[in-house]
Amino acid sequence: MFITNNQEFVCEQCGKKVGKHPTSSRDHCTYCLYSKHVDVSPGDRQNRCQGLLQPIGLEIKEGKTQIVYQCISCGERKKNIVAPDDNQEMVLQLSTKPV
Ligand SMILES: [Zn+2]
Ligand SMILES: [Zn+2]
Repeated sequence: MFITNNQEFVCEQCGKKVGKHPTSSRDHCTYCLYSKHVDVSPGDRQNRCQGLLQPIGLEIKEGKTQIVYQCISCGERKKNIVAPDDNQEMVLQLSTKPV
């Protein structure tokens, strides 16, 4: 199940205000690409971990580019699809890292 949860938020990693996603759910910062461990299923906000998700690499699956995350609190790995307005330099840097 996918719940749309498209809200503005202030990034806990870089402190910038991140606006709403143009078409989907805003699930990570467009500036530093960090996300937060808040979901069990995408968009449900049911996870009590609340740790920062650090972007550690990229994965391309079925033509979609996904950012691979590792939670700095619990170590769980998560993936988010790259947003069209993500910082392309940051995405490019990630693409050079082995996952
Ligand atoms: Zn950020
Ligand atoms: Zn976590």
